[in-house]
Amino acid sequence: MSDTAETKPIFDASLPEPMADRRCSRPLCESDAEVILAFGYETRHVMLRWIDDEYDPNLLELCARHADRFNPPQGWSSDDHRRQVVDLRSLHAESVSG
Ligand SMILES: [Zn+2]
Repeated sequence: MSDTAETKPIFDASLPEPMADRRCSRPLCESDAEVILAFGYETRHVMLRWIDDEYDPNLLELCARHADRFNPPQGWSSDDHRRQVVDLRSLHAESVSG
């Protein structure tokens, strides 16, 4: 317990917190953003996934409540990747048989 000098800090304290200022994009909603909505305009497809550290201004970030209420525009399809993390195996089996 004497050679702590070799221990380097994992995080650089001078870097800003990436999650610090990420709120739900809905007006008047002050909840933290939890879900990312990625719009594929060419394929007309919306993908929902859990938020991650990488901030992309092109993505819509919503709280879980508003993400659950979200309906894709008419003619668009949507995929909720939040649940597929758990059900990956069964979803794969379905897509093979169907
Ligand atoms: Zn919200």
